[in-house]
Amino acid sequence: MTARILVVDDVPANVKLLEARLVAEYFDVLTAGDGHAALATCEKTPVDLVLLDIMMPGMDGFEVCERLKANSRTAHIPVVMITALDQPSDRVRGLKAGADDFLTKPVNDLQLMSRVKSLVRLKNVSDELRLRAQTAQTIGLQELARVDRPDEPGSVLLVDGRASSQERLTRALKPIADVAVISDPQAALFEAAESSFDLIIVNANFDDYDPLRLCSQLRSLERTRFIPILLVTEQGNDERIVRALELGVTDYIMRPVDPNELVARSLTQIRRKHCNDRLRANVQQTIELAVTDDLTGLHNRRYLENHLKLLIDRATTRGRPLSICITDIDRFKRVNDTYGHDAGDDVLREFANRVRATVRGADLACRFGGEEFVVVMPDTTPEMAAIVAERLRLAVESRGFDIPQAATVLNVTASLGIATLRPDGDTAEALLKRADMALYQAKNGGRNRVVAAAA
Ligand code: GH3
Ligand code: MG
Ligand code: MG
Repeated sequence: MTARILVVDDVPANVKLLEARLVAEYFDVLTAGDGHAALATCEKTPVDLVLLDIMMPGMDGFEVCERLKANSRTAHIPVVMITALDQPSDRVRGLKAGADDFLTKPVNDLQLMSRVKSLVRLKNVSDELRLRAQTAQTIGLQELARVDRPDEPGSVLLVDGRASSQERLTRALKPIADVAVISDPQAALFEAAESSFDLIIVNANFDDYDPLRLCSQLRSLERTRFIPILLVTEQGNDERIVRALELGVTDYIMRPVDPNELVARSLTQIRRKHCNDRLRANVQQTIELAVTDDLTGLHNRRYLENHLKLLIDRATTRGRPLSICITDIDRFKRVNDTYGHDAGDDVLREFANRVRATVRGADLACRFGGEEFVVVMPDTTPEMAAIVAERLRLAVESRGFDIPQAATVLNVTASLGIATLRPDGDTAEALLKRADMALYQAKNGGRNRVVAAAA
């Protein structure tokens, strides 16, 4: 996982220390010595996470955070506040300013890495959804649901083994959420899968049950995978917390629970869940209906042409590779001529299934037209693209295509052309053109093969 992290602190030695640790984990690190410099950097460069000192002369961390969150261009960047004072009041103030997390100086290495990684992971998901929603808007299909609507009450599942804390936590959450309480962790798993909660709070206070088991199960079930989990845990148990975050727990809070901190952290999670739900719903309604190819269920050319531009911009600003593959079925006209158009449609559907099964989730697969398909592969070098294309070629050639219409099984092959984004000023049109020329060479060279465009 690579990400660009901005470290903000007025003491150069503190900046150096954090920078060295993050660089050692291959993060891309930017630094700023005061609030103004930090805001300027976030405005002009894509930043994935801000590590923010609270006590700074001039503009303090609270104000920097408030300003970042008030600006629509920077509001989505997660902010982790770093403070010398482990004061609950500071935390609450920071959370009210919109901070996503806290670390206390001296910063514990394991906690630093786990929190940074978990926030970067979350940001990747919401960035992708944001990008897709933006594409829907560009295409002009439907007005986007606003991401920054006022808060709606959240629905929270509280899993807690003790009546006294159940009562206390429920009372604290009452102003912001409807709370369902359950004492038995196994029953909680079923409850979570049956209903649709915005947040699950797991209080680690069971006599003979490991709460991380529940957290891990919640992360593996399809129905509960995206629900944030807030773990309530003992002080001074860093290893357990790191383990919990690695398992996919979204956030944690230490006992004794400060009701303000509980509310603030819960609100952050509920907001994020609502935001992601809205983006996801938007994506489903607009894009998946109107920009999907009817026959194959893949995205269509219109979607590809718009989204490819955004993916190229993103790869260019981040200095990441991006490759595309165009594939065209060989001698497809013969299938139509011999077995009829409906049989041809069967081949196209099955071909699309094999494309889908071959590519990663982050890749974008589209029907470009007729019997031509395009796969866009972010973060993919020419070497990796060649491997994927060859895998796809084999996936088509190695097994016959079932044609129920004609009660037969057909051997099908395809030709593929691949091309990779050039670092300076390459366009979607030029990239598609190079891939198309490579495809043409594959056809001329005898079909059923992969040809890469010259870099
Ligand atoms: P090559 O190996 O050079 O690609 O030969 P080909 O026969 O595959 O290429 P050509 O471009 O000559 O023919 C493509 C055919 O695809 C012609 C067209 O009727 C058919 N086709 C395009 N869209 C559809 C569709 O939606 N359904 C069906 N069944 N056929 C389609
Ligand atoms: Mg063809
Ligand atoms: Mg063709």
